[in-house]
Amino acid sequence: MSSSYPQVLLVEDEPAQREVLAYNLEAEGYGVAKAETGDEALMLVEEVEPDVIILDWMLPGVSGIEICRRLKTKQETRAIPIIMLTARSEEADRVRGLETGADDYVVKPYSVIELMARVRTQLRRVRPASVGERLEYDDITLDAETHRVARSNQPIKLGPTEFRLLSTFMEKPGRVWSREQLLDRVWGRDIYVDTRTVDVHVGRLRKALCQHGGTDPVRTVRGAGYALG
Ligand code: CA
Repeated sequence: MSSSYPQVLLVEDEPAQREVLAYNLEAEGYGVAKAETGDEALMLVEEVEPDVIILDWMLPGVSGIEICRRLKTKQETRAIPIIMLTARSEEADRVRGLETGADDYVVKPYSVIELMARVRTQLRRVRPASVGERLEYDDITLDAETHRVARSNQPIKLGPTEFRLLSTFMEKPGRVWSREQLLDRVWGRDIYVDTRTVDVHVGRLRKALCQHGGTDPVRTVRGAGYALG
């Protein structure tokens, strides 16, 4: 169930700062991947597919700015929000000036609470259900805070797996998810589950969503997977 939680990639070479941040991110319920260098960060981005990246400016080897620039020019990674950590306010000015594409920046020494708030702000954009937002799609509403789902104002009862499936679909309507991607997101990549299990739960979700009538909002994309709408 872990990977329906947001994944944060934390790139910071100073061990003490890295551990404090990792501890706080985990306390927020996020999965945390840690990198000490830019090269390690680039490798982990592909492996973890993080929802948010916290990136220190000053790193040994490839700098944070360079990492940011590379990630923001690549099609597959440009949508991942990056929060830059900078040592001084002049550097913060340079982050803005250089137009690296960083989505936000925080000046060291920062308040951990403030940084956690910034992470949440970015997640609200890319993974709204994961931070308890209320989602709407057509006549379906999903309240991630109270775990209530309704269609045309009639409550829909869902099991935990179907709820996570629907959250995933509703965060990105129209996006086609492969069975493997849904397994990663909904079940967690550490758990072995057969891809046919996805079909079973999508079937249950469809049935639940149509219990009061209405058309099936989930689309089967042949050879690709599933999408909402
Ligand atoms: Ca550093």
